[in-house]
Amino acid sequence: MIVGGGTAGWMAANLMAHRWRDRDVSIMLLESDAIGTIGVGEGSTPYLKGFFKSLGIDESEWMPACNATYKCGIRFPRWSTVPGYESYYHPFFSPLDREIGQVFFENVRRRRSGIDTPANPTDFFHAPFLSSNACAPHPEKPLPFELDYGYHFDAGLLGRFLREKAKAAGVEHLIDTVSTVERNGENIEAIVTEKSGRIAADFFIDCSGFRALLLGGAPDYRFRDFSRTLFNNAAVTVQIERDFSQPLLSETISEGLSSGWMWRIPLQNRTGCGYVYSNHYVSPDAAETELRKTLGLPESARVNHLKMRVGRAEEHWQGNCLGVGLSQGFIEPLEATALMLVQFTIEHFLEAFRFQDTEAPGPHKKTVFNERINQLFDGVLDYVAGHYKLNSREDTAYWRAAREEIVISDRLQALLDCWDNNGDVDRLLEQAGAELVYSRASWYSLLAGMGRFPRNLRPADAAVAREHQEVRRFCTGNLARFRQHQTQLDSLRQSVSEPA
Ligand SMILES: Cc1cc2nc3c(=O)[nH]c(=O)nc-3n(C[C@H](O)[C@H](O)[C@H](O)COP(=O)(O)OP(=O)(O)OC[C@H]3O[C@@H](n4cnc5c(N)ncnc54)[C@H](O)[C@@H]3O)c2cc1C
Repeated sequence: MIVGGGTAGWMAANLMAHRWRDRDVSIMLLESDAIGTIGVGEGSTPYLKGFFKSLGIDESEWMPACNATYKCGIRFPRWSTVPGYESYYHPFFSPLDREIGQVFFENVRRRRSGIDTPANPTDFFHAPFLSSNACAPHPEKPLPFELDYGYHFDAGLLGRFLREKAKAAGVEHLIDTVSTVERNGENIEAIVTEKSGRIAADFFIDCSGFRALLLGGAPDYRFRDFSRTLFNNAAVTVQIERDFSQPLLSETISEGLSSGWMWRIPLQNRTGCGYVYSNHYVSPDAAETELRKTLGLPESARVNHLKMRVGRAEEHWQGNCLGVGLSQGFIEPLEATALMLVQFTIEHFLEAFRFQDTEAPGPHKKTVFNERINQLFDGVLDYVAGHYKLNSREDTAYWRAAREEIVISDRLQALLDCWDNNGDVDRLLEQAGAELVYSRASWYSLLAGMGRFPRNLRPADAAVAREHQEVRRFCTGNLARFRQHQTQLDSLRQSVSEPA
């Protein structure tokens, strides 16, 4: 029994129906028509590629249906005030970057040691070149490897698409509202709904969003609150018409505002925008005014206010209940990681879960599973917290507090100390391994991109500038090998309307 029909619920329904297609399992998804879905969550990491691949769903099938676009990475303007680093790019990497990436790492190493080498990641990877030139991460002629990329999509349309897929795979869909949960110790026996009454099941998946209807009521439910690390607790969002006179970029823009940041997510028909802020520093009204002013919105534009609860459950799988999605926890959307955590949770659960007829999961398996999910949450938390800790803005109390007052993990502090003291960051990252979740290239992009370097630098020799130019020429030269973003999306639509 899956409770909740947001993106998390339908992702779970599809992955479970697919994995257990040869088993005698009935899956029901129940959602309320009185309680809506959150309605946001329109950017992904490259991990989502694997979700569609595992279900055998081609881009040409789901992308046009969801007005989806490609995402080569995230651009971060107005987080840093360091000259030359006022904006930087967190790219998704590709094998094309292998050699120029080494130039970036070497330049960063030298700049950390006090030499004036260029080290803004925006200049060193293909992704920023592709996205600012409105290219798709798809070459005209096939390359011997695939580029890493994520997606942007309409959350409502994706929900509907996944719902139809799940129903076609045999998932039963019920519209009703849960009023009470019947428990027996750690386990849930049944839910009681307003119209259909009592519904029993062997296993429950809680996808009820921030309410955490099932998991949150477990006898020893514990929630690890992240609000001392991530100050943002609210968002105001708006959708604006796409300006077809402008090229369709293949990037998310996450721009710092006065008390938080604003995303711009380009879809095929519109741009989704949202200001994520802390209501301790700006009121919802003032945040809305700032959003409207920044985007030049007409008065008639309808905005939506949301509250966010940041943190995670200590145990995502407790008794016969698994929390998936906002019910299990949430790290604010700066790196668009929530659906990655959803997918990872379901995939790992499917690995760990055993039917009674083969082998009971046992407490140990559950503990290992919960630890693994917590590790992922905490690794993402470190990376997202790093953005705030490294900001160099002085213009508002929010940005100063975000740098000086946030509580960060010992692990992140150790990394920053190592970086600042010109220590062996590579060894530290290697030792941390999977615990830090993000790759060396991502950490370097963040730390270098924010301009975290000594201030008094010695000039570099002329060869450095030449090499920098060569890298730029190489990336620019390769642009011609890639399709325009709009052309690639049009070809996906065409392949749907003209089946082979
Ligand atoms: C501001 C913001 C921006 C975000 N941006 C991103 C992003 O860019 N990328 C990303 O990956 N994620 C993002 N997320 C997170 C993403 O939106 C969610 O992870 C995703 O939508 C999954 O939500 P959900 O399905 O867990 O919950 P919801 O969408 O809230 O769905 C909850 C479901 O539970 C049902 N329900 C609740 N109570 C009951 C009841 N009593 N009885 C029956 N049914 C009930 C509701 O009907 C609904 O169907 C963002 C989140 C926020 C807040």
